[in-house]
Amino acid sequence: MKMKKKDFLPVIQINKEWCKGCGICVEFCPSQVLILNRQCVEVANLEACTACKLCEIRCPDFAIEVSKVTEKIELEDN
Ligand code: SF4
Ligand code: SF4
Repeated sequence: MKMKKKDFLPVIQINKEWCKGCGICVEFCPSQVLILNRQCVEVANLEACTACKLCEIRCPDFAIEVSKVTEKIELEDN
């Protein structure tokens, strides 16, 4: 897996059952990662996500969760 600039990949999980499409997360995201589509939030620009978790913290319905995937590449000579 190639990673550029960041040393992690953000993972945004949206629970569509719980999302009521209020748009709070869209408004609070400082990087314009999220958009509303048919009353449900969607990821429009994952590349721009810094995994700051503001969307997760602000969502009143616990419908969005952000985590980081990091990959360590270690070469060992045995
Ligand atoms: S804040 Fe939560 S409920 Fe509102 S649009 Fe975002 S994910 Fe959906
Ligand atoms: S973690 Fe931060 S940058 Fe990523 S979508 Fe949520 S608010 Fe936007």
